[in-house]
Amino acid sequence: MAFPARAAAALLILRLSLCLSGEAACPAAGRGPARVERRLASMGTVLAVSVAGPDRAAALAASEEAVREIGRVEERLTTWRRGGPLDRVNRARPGEPIVLDPEISELLAAIFAWSERTEDAFDPTVAPLVRAWDLRGRGRVPDAEALARARAATGRSKFRLDAASGEARRLAADAGIDEGAWGKGYALDRAVEALRRAGVRDATVDLGGQVSALGRAAVAVADPRTRDQAAGSLILTDASVSTSGNSERGRVVEGRAIGHLLDPRTGYPASDFGSATVVAPSGLTADILSTAFFVLGPEKGLALSESLRRRGFENQALFLVVANGELKVLASPGLEFHREGK
Ligand code: ADP
Ligand code: MG
Repeated sequence: MAFPARAAAALLILRLSLCLSGEAACPAAGRGPARVERRLASMGTVLAVSVAGPDRAAALAASEEAVREIGRVEERLTTWRRGGPLDRVNRARPGEPIVLDPEISELLAAIFAWSERTEDAFDPTVAPLVRAWDLRGRGRVPDAEALARARAATGRSKFRLDAASGEARRLAADAGIDEGAWGKGYALDRAVEALRRAGVRDATVDLGGQVSALGRAAVAVADPRTRDQAAGSLILTDASVSTSGNSERGRVVEGRAIGHLLDPRTGYPASDFGSATVVAPSGLTADILSTAFFVLGPEKGLALSESLRRRGFENQALFLVVANGELKVLASPGLEFHREGK
């Protein structure tokens, strides 16, 4: 996830809401079952919400709740602008306590726990490495010294979180939290919760390609060779699907492609084999695990996926591996992936 300034600037905010259910279900008076679809810019990417309701007004009102909730989460998590709680933690003097409200302090505890569970393949404290590679700018290959400094400032041990008091401290001057690999997933969870509260049972929320579904939905998975084409689709029921792969978020420095997914254990961009997709009950989990599994690669990723399932963390993984121009599919047992044209 990124919250770049271009998102705020480029904004052609496309705020449209249409009734797409056809004439019968979508009478001019707006009564009767209806589906509302909206697309707008949010969290540095495109947000598309599709909500079915008993009538158009109800579906529209529910979609508004979801959009508002994602906006609220963006405000709270962004480190692209000054003043939010995470930004305050990232700017605190080493050792200085920053008091966080329960939402943020519980969320930080949850993502730190996920970092541990993924053996640091997912690491929300990668901000120094993101800076060293200038992934929020034009990209750069850091020299050995800069890389060593960034690695030394990365890791959960550079933070102290106190659940009881809600205090967070960063312990090193360069340490920082990056919301890129989990913020959109959390926002999706809150949007789904808002829709549920509004009584919705059939909806999808797509935030930059990560999709959460209320009810059943078919979601396309991009072909990592040609990302504007689908390699196939997955069926989701009350779940979220996230894909991590090298995308337009990567950078090219002196002709060399630099992926935006870093291996926190080496400090280098993770090697690019294709893409990792995760289906999980929550958007946060799917977002985190797709990043972790991409960093780990197919073999270790599938093994971690299974071991997490055994420990009660429901998730299914799909790896699309590009080898000699061909696409190889590796998936968790029971995951229904329908290849395009097959
Ligand atoms: P996308 O933003 O394309 O959906 P991800 O969810 O995988 O992709 O998040 C990638 C972003 O997370 C990067 O842009 C960077 O800010 C941050 N990041 C990169 N590597 C890691 C990592 N190993 N663990 C946690 N965050 C990471
Ligand atoms: Mg992610």
